[in-house]
Amino acid sequence: MNTDNIRFRSNRMRDIISLYHTELDAIYGAEVSVFVEMLCEAFLGWDRVRLLTGKEQTIDQSDLLRFHWALEDLKRHRPIQHIVGHTDFCGCRIEVNGNVLIPRPETEEMVNWTVESGGRKVERALDLCTGSGCIAIALKRAYPQAVVTAADISPEALAVARRNAEANGAEVCFVEADVLSDDFICQSSTFNLITANPPYVCESERKQMAPNVLEYDPAMALFVPDDDPLRFYRAIARVAARSLADDGLLVAEINEALADETCEVLKQCGLHPEVHTDFRGKARWVAARLE
Ligand code: GLN
Repeated sequence: MNTDNIRFRSNRMRDIISLYHTELDAIYGAEVSVFVEMLCEAFLGWDRVRLLTGKEQTIDQSDLLRFHWALEDLKRHRPIQHIVGHTDFCGCRIEVNGNVLIPRPETEEMVNWTVESGGRKVERALDLCTGSGCIAIALKRAYPQAVVTAADISPEALAVARRNAEANGAEVCFVEADVLSDDFICQSSTFNLITANPPYVCESERKQMAPNVLEYDPAMALFVPDDDPLRFYRAIARVAARSLADDGLLVAEINEALADETCEVLKQCGLHPEVHTDFRGKARWVAARLE
């Protein structure tokens, strides 16, 4: 008999949790308790209180198997968000899989800042490189009257984004388009707000990245060539220069090591950028206006 099965012989919640800690604490530390909570919600429909009071309860064989496979996945650094199939972003539940970047808390901070500092009326918003659609959906929920358009090159990502918009009751117009191509069109529209979280990690930065990111997030959402790391910002700046309303705002997530260079690219298109720092103290996004 396989030893994994022996270890998982008990189907009492207390024993399952204790095995999770034994196997995973060395890799994930305090996060293991959060993983257990997320798995209990996903597999058993248990909330936190139910988990606190249900530790002596036993679960059936099929649920036990799911905990077993989830443990094996976590040992292989598969992101918990892929295992449960979603993450939370600005109060929305966002489905994720290998076709979209898992939304990061830094991006959530950028969106919160945008909405708080924007404060004003947004009638038309455009989100570039939308991926899971998380930014576009959060914007639509913050500005229910706005027409929100979101573009991505990947049809697989757009399928996820469309499901996310639907599930969160956010009407967003999704467009399959490559922002790098010369004929990227935004009709003749102007936007009060343009947002983007494009790929910005240099190929040479791969070696500093965690296996859960490197092996499971889509490379096309992350990486840019070392010899042209700002290619997306040139394209975004072009779109903004052409399509931003006079008092409109561009907000884009950036590579913290390239903040100055990114600002230069934006300035060359006539934008006036300022850099903002995230909760980790890293230069994380630029906000730019035309004048
Ligand atoms: N910040 C992300 C990471 O560290 C990268 C996001 C991006 O390339 N847009 O993995």
